Amino acid sequence: MQTIKTDILIFGGGIAGLWLLNRLRNAGYSAILLEQERLGGHESINANGIIHGGLKFGLSAMLRDVEDLDDMPALWRDCLAGKGDLNLSGVKVLAEHQYIWSEANLAARATTFFASRLITGQVEAVEGAARPSVLQDAAFSGNAYQLSDLVLDIPSLVQKLASNYKSCIYKVTPQTCHVETDDRHNTSAVFITAAGVEPLRIHPTRVLLAGGQGNEALLEDLGRRLPEMERRTVHMTMLKRAELPDFYAHCVGTSRNPRLTITTHPTRDGEKIWYVGGELAEEGALRDERVQIEHAQRELKELLPWVDLRGARYKTVKIDRILPAGERGLFRPDNAFVESIGNNIVTWPCKITLAPNLGRQVLAQLQADGIKPEHAQPTEALPLLYPEMGLPVWENVFS
Ligand SMILES: Cc1cc2nc3c(=O)[nH]c(=O)nc-3n(C[C@H](O)[C@H](O)[C@H](O)COP(=O)(O)OP(=O)(O)OC[C@H]3O[C@@H](n4cnc5c(N)ncnc54)[C@H](O)[C@@H]3O)c2cc1C
Repeated sequence: MQTIKTDILIFGGGIAGLWLLNRLRNAGYSAILLEQERLGGHESINANGIIHGGLKFGLSAMLRDVEDLDDMPALWRDCLAGKGDLNLSGVKVLAEHQYIWSEANLAARATTFFASRLITGQVEAVEGAARPSVLQDAAFSGNAYQLSDLVLDIPSLVQKLASNYKSCIYKVTPQTCHVETDDRHNTSAVFITAAGVEPLRIHPTRVLLAGGQGNEALLEDLGRRLPEMERRTVHMTMLKRAELPDFYAHCVGTSRNPRLTITTHPTRDGEKIWYVGGELAEEGALRDERVQIEHAQRELKELLPWVDLRGARYKTVKIDRILPAGERGLFRPDNAFVESIGNNIVTWPCKITLAPNLGRQVLAQLQADGIKPEHAQPTEALPLLYPEMGLPVWENVFS
């Protein structure tokens, strides 16, 4: 049996695991990442890609006045410029800004809300040609605002994060990977048995659980049911058409969520999709696809009646958003979740936006625990496969 010692073993190749792999390898730790399906994960690859500050909650934020996420877009912009926590130069930016538009009958209230933010530069009212093309139509009578938020192409982000440390990433399956723990919830070893190769035993100093919804099963391996996680199903609508204007915007109403959130994504066959979430997606969690599409069409017709969507094809997808349950899982997490159990660290980023915060918290935890880089990175590749890259759901559902 081949035995390997590593400073860090990471379960999960979504944004959380890949971000942590990069941060820790850059900090000098040896690390191995195990992914049981595809790189990009379940949630990450299917996210809108909005790197948002705290403002997407629009009018409802008038009651709460908390903007904890405000630093994140600037942190990401530094990374994209190659000078932040990670070098993300080359990652595709779909939009430099996400916008907000208000329903015409709420325009007055929206103005009051945004006026106070204009001074701090968080939001900028935009007129005429400065508006996204969809909101330049004469039929639009509401207000439009530009946020500091940017929108990333998640497949290119996953690709970049995975390519930096490709030789540290391996594919496992639940059947071939066995976690050995002691009675104090420490992971003492991870055994990997793959057909035709010598079994492998990995002794990690620290284990990072970055498996998204898979953390539940990983915690069971440790004999733990806590921390508990919560699944919030969102029912996203995708509409595909060769001619679709680029549009990245939230429509705010009176409720705590944006009524609609729309982002535009290029597809590999040269067309585009609008990926539509917001309240429509949350309230539609229990609807079937046909009914959800009818709701989406009604909303689009009511809120953007001047946009020509004739001939568009519609599909929907239900995806679970994973959040820590209880107080930490409140509607607006403003920090990534990090909790130590023995030599394991359980992580949920809660949002892609919070990946830099996740990296900082985990590094701080290692430092607080006195864990320094100790073991060398294996010089030879392990006898395991490299996982495939995942694709966003819209690449597969339109035939
Ligand atoms: C529809 C939707 C839109 C969203 N839009 C945004 C947005 O615009 N902006 C934003 O900031 N956030 C957004 N989010 C939230 C964001 O996508 C998630 O918070 C984030 O992607 C979670 O990343 P993750 O790495 O924890 O999970 P995942 O991306 O799900 O990755 C977990 C990975 O771990 C693997 N795994 C699980 N168990 C094991 C195991 N035992 N061994 C090996 N591998 C394992 C899985 O196969 C998977 O690949 C959105 C979420 C949804 C659902």
